Amino acid sequence: MERENIVWHLHKVSKADRSQQKKQRSAILWFTGLSASGKSTIAGAVEQALFELGHHTYLLDGDNVRHGLNKDLGFSDEDRVENIRRIGEMAKLFADAGLIVLTAFISPFRSDRRLVRDLVEADEFVEVYMDTPLSVCEQRDPKGLYQKARRGEIKNFTGIDSEYEAPEAAEVTLNTAECDVSECVAQVIEYLRTHNIIHT
Ligand code: ADP
Repeated sequence: MERENIVWHLHKVSKADRSQQKKQRSAILWFTGLSASGKSTIAGAVEQALFELGHHTYLLDGDNVRHGLNKDLGFSDEDRVENIRRIGEMAKLFADAGLIVLTAFISPFRSDRRLVRDLVEADEFVEVYMDTPLSVCEQRDPKGLYQKARRGEIKNFTGIDSEYEAPEAAEVTLNTAECDVSECVAQVIEYLRTHNIIHT
């Protein structure tokens, strides 16, 4: 079918209707940071806190997506860009469903994060920067990936031989070397409350 014959359908139940029913504003909490900076840990803990408050959420996590939807993609620059683009489109669909979406991907390039930000409504994208120093991440090294990267067994590893471009104006910045899990979670929840994403 020709591309111009594909049209976006407007359904009877809108995003606004779904958000109202769920008593929350849809949002994408985009966690970005080095490997072992705490993205999965904090995103998981924030999701649990939101769930306990009665909110509707969905967490998209790095490795899980690469097992399925993006299993055809590798770690070249081109594939990393496509990986984030697809995740962004998927997050947008979940947000359209009225959910608070949490994503935990290194997403090292500013232009990719900008691309996702531009896909959704202006106040829907909440960039959560895990500002944990590389030295701390490397010391944690829960999966031994930094060790492998240092030995040259993994190429293009972010922070070692591939760049991480830190956000310039993230909505929330967390340094897990300085605050524990519950403090980081509280900081994210506070942002959601003050920006009227949740009212609980
Ligand atoms: P990422 O998803 O960024 O790769 P993970 O959450 O998988 O990071 O790993 C972070 C590691 O750091 C975990 O082993 C976690 O237990 C540990 N950690 C120690 N202190 C903190 C903290 N304050 N916040 C988050 N993680 C922490």
